[in-house]
Amino acid sequence: MPSLISHAIVAAGATRLVFGAGAPRAVYAAAVALSCLPDADVIGFRLGVPYAAPWGHRGASHSLVMAAIVSLPVAAALARRHRGAAGARRWPALWGFLFAAMASHGILDAFTSGGHGIALLWPSSAERFFAPWRPIAVSPIGLSRFLSARGVHVLASEATVVWAPLAVTLAFAERFRSRRSRDR
Ligand SMILES: [Zn+2]
Repeated sequence: MPSLISHAIVAAGATRLVFGAGAPRAVYAAAVALSCLPDADVIGFRLGVPYAAPWGHRGASHSLVMAAIVSLPVAAALARRHRGAAGARRWPALWGFLFAAMASHGILDAFTSGGHGIALLWPSSAERFFAPWRPIAVSPIGLSRFLSARGVHVLASEATVVWAPLAVTLAFAERFRSRRSRDR
């Protein structure tokens, strides 16, 4: 995996990009939480679930189907609670966005340099996928291993490949938005 920091940054950045400044904090929180959730499957290591098993790390929890199922009730609840707010006006659109936030986890993982591939198409296929280009240094599992020289290397790689392009995209989007509202 990339570090959870990067999954969270991508989800928060995407929320800002798609909905602008007016999205309720709960939409940000949901997108960030869903983008990190698939890695809860590391509990399987303690329970003896093999890495390569369908429910092992990077398996079912990282699939597109799981993202669609889990994000649906979250979107419905948020749309009901924040009716009318930016990002929560129509639950199908919010569902689509939260699905993408959670699915982004597996897709980002597919760009990492190590570990097993991602079961993106579970349950129709147990195949583990990697992207053809894998520039993100894989993050070690566990905080103690992350707080090391390897963790610094991972963060440096994520800063270059993920954070910087996202920051540039956000800066352009904000400029475009403010120019458009000035021209109105
Ligand atoms: Zn992961």
